[in-house]
Amino acid sequence: MKYEFTIFGSGISAKITSYLLASEGYEVCLVLDKEKNQGTPSTNLVTFLSNGSLNYLYSKFPKMSSLFAKYSDIETINCQLISVNKNKSESIYFEDDKKETLGKIVKNIELEDILNEYINQSVNLTIINSNPLSLIENTTDGVTLKLQNSDRIYSDLFILSSSQANITKQLKIKFINKDLEQHALSIDVKGNIKNKFSAFQKFTSDGPLALLPYSDDEASVVWSLRNNSQILQKDNDELAKIISNHLNEHVASLQLINIEKHRLQFTFAKNLFYKNTVLIGNIAHNIHPIAGQGLNLTIKDIAEFMNQTSKYTSLGYKFNDQMVLKEFEMKRKIDNTAFSFGTILLDDILSSNNKFINYSTRKGFGLIKKSGAFKKFFTRRATGENFFRSF
Ligand SMILES: Cc1cc2nc3c(=O)[nH]c(=O)nc-3n(C[C@H](O)[C@H](O)[C@H](O)COP(=O)(O)OP(=O)(O)OC[C@H]3O[C@@H](n4cnc5c(N)ncnc54)[C@H](O)[C@@H]3O)c2cc1C
Repeated sequence: MKYEFTIFGSGISAKITSYLLASEGYEVCLVLDKEKNQGTPSTNLVTFLSNGSLNYLYSKFPKMSSLFAKYSDIETINCQLISVNKNKSESIYFEDDKKETLGKIVKNIELEDILNEYINQSVNLTIINSNPLSLIENTTDGVTLKLQNSDRIYSDLFILSSSQANITKQLKIKFINKDLEQHALSIDVKGNIKNKFSAFQKFTSDGPLALLPYSDDEASVVWSLRNNSQILQKDNDELAKIISNHLNEHVASLQLINIEKHRLQFTFAKNLFYKNTVLIGNIAHNIHPIAGQGLNLTIKDIAEFMNQTSKYTSLGYKFNDQMVLKEFEMKRKIDNTAFSFGTILLDDILSSNNKFINYSTRKGFGLIKKSGAFKKFFTRRATGENFFRSF
């Protein structure tokens, strides 16, 4: 079997990339690392998709725009810092200076369902299941892969988008991996949400707690907690009381619907390609959810990859020319590095119990609050506004 692109993974990143390449007319093979394509894993996770990511997705997957119309537009992000001595709190509001929406909170299962619909109808896309998948040969001419049933696939370019794969050991790419020693509670809540157009993040001494509304009475709460936090031991009733206290200015009559726990790990690949293998998705950068940017970063990677591919093929180059891949990597380096390490730093500083750090942080927080230029810069980066303007 011979394809121009082979993608390995079952996540959102693998599906977006496969569909976009197939819709450009390439012969694409998507190798799922899970048993079934249709069986979207049931998760209560939601994603803050920035306005830039949404507009990009709508342009490629038009059905998403009517499906996501029901979700509230997020117009402001309100961040609140509580000081260690609990006497004072500071708030910063981020909003677009042109009063455009910042993005939407969407349910991951709906995003996956619609992606499944697109990939299943795509003509140039072959979907197979195989786990494991082995990398037999990776040269600058192409890649040979071996499926679980020993069949071989030959491909001009291989895109690795699975965090289950052992293949990374065969790539000369250095990874920075760190166990963040935290778990994120992802909780579906119902209640009377005072402002469904505003996402709220409170930096509690236990860790950042986010309220992400997606309708008048539904929201997701994401609370990142250190592994030794007492909060992780609480039963649902106790947890509901604690969360209600923290969020009482933003949601009344709060009820917990369901709770999931996600182990937080950090991954950063120092390179995005090795010979004819490219990394896309969490495998390239798996970051702290504090700024809601993990998937947004990946969507920017995918948009850049598609852009480089079409730019160079129109100039007569092969899409797997090492120069094309090098330029893709360089164009994404600064943004990926800044968000990956910036989010770890932000979490360390804002959740610190150290009085000196807390004092300095409050001072810094106060300066950011007063600096219109910094808020504008941060908002533009987080909404992807400047990035997507060039596409
Ligand atoms: C609590 C939380 C909140 C987040 N909030 C945001 C947000 O607001 N905005 C944003 O942009 N990003 C957010 N993210 C990040 C976002 O969810 C990921 O970046 C995105 O889902 C990555 O998709 P992926 O396809 O690259 O990787 P994955 O979804 O990790 O998939 C890669 C591969 O790994 C395998 N895999 C993944 N998980 C498992 C598992 N549990 N068991 C077995 N196999 C598995 C899959 O089969 C798949 O092939 C959040 C993440 C978390 C944990």
